[in-house]
Amino acid sequence: MGPRILFSAPDEHWPLWRPHLLAAFADAGLDVTLTNDPSGPWTFDYVVYQPGGPVRDFAPFERIKAVLSLWAGVESIVGDTSIVVPLCRMVDVGLTRGMAEWVTAHVLRYHMGIDGHILGQDGVWRNSVVPPLAPERTVGILGLGELGRATAAMLTSIGFRVVGWSRGPRELPGIETWSGAEGLSEVLGASEILVLLLPATPATENTLDARALAMLPRGARIINPGRGPLIDDEALLKALDNGHVGHATLDVFRQEPLPAEHPYWAHPMVTVTPHIASATRPETASMAIAENVRRGEAGLDFLNVVNRAESY
Ligand code: NDP
Repeated sequence: MGPRILFSAPDEHWPLWRPHLLAAFADAGLDVTLTNDPSGPWTFDYVVYQPGGPVRDFAPFERIKAVLSLWAGVESIVGDTSIVVPLCRMVDVGLTRGMAEWVTAHVLRYHMGIDGHILGQDGVWRNSVVPPLAPERTVGILGLGELGRATAAMLTSIGFRVVGWSRGPRELPGIETWSGAEGLSEVLGASEILVLLLPATPATENTLDARALAMLPRGARIINPGRGPLIDDEALLKALDNGHVGHATLDVFRQEPLPAEHPYWAHPMVTVTPHIASATRPETASMAIAENVRRGEAGLDFLNVVNRAESY
């Protein structure tokens, strides 16, 4: 009998995912039993997981070989001590491309001053500002993982100068890379537009605090599709109010949905987007899930295993 797979995600996802998962498992040559019914006996081999589904405790699933997250960010599950098997996070070509496109769109919006022409049209013909070209603009990216690297590559392909920061040293073609506290200062100091693509971990909380914000060039723009806790919100609001930060586009927040009374909503220098920077796409992500199950069944190492000690 082939592997038994439990899909644990909010109910509305099941009809969307089921056909793509079944097709991907068939393409991978796997004869699986796939269900979204978590009731016992718990003889599942894998749990495909997204927060909000029925599974809250993995202890009863004594036979599972891996937990396969549908999300790239695993902060809500990484500390779950009932998971004693590899926890794999989502790396999906669709998710990656979607993020690179979303960030590139917002970088171009800032770079070209597009808001100045599409907001508040008032009958005045202002044509005196010539924006710099991409090679004259530096974009900083904090986090050079799957999403940060793809975003950096898309931005450099357009011509932007990209500087990036990661935990360990990374060598990437066409990108200046830094790590460590000194590296963070270098990247912040150069970033006219700063993109946050770090995971939420104890070590990354408040990476962008008052001190870090002060290192940015005056008028810098911030784009955060990473996670809400990366930013000290009070410090950012202050920096926006005093003009040190020129504008922020925020897709993720400490509390989601962002409460209606949160000052970000009404702030003239903030664009709020509702955690839509990039989605896990069933068409492509199902293939990533099937590949990991195939590997597990073939006795190979799983891909994209979370480093539980580092929380990402
Ligand atoms: P990865 O795990 O591939 O990359 C994480 C990057 O952050 C790595 O470069 C890593 O460094 C770096 N990093 C981690 N901790 C630190 C630290 N303490 N100091 C400096 N650098 C650090 O993740 P992804 O690129 O796949 O995803 C990044 C995040 O994007 C996710 O965790 C999630 O929060 C968010 N996301 C948001 C979405 C949205 O729609 N808004 C959609 C999908 C993801 P190193 O290279 O040395 O390991």
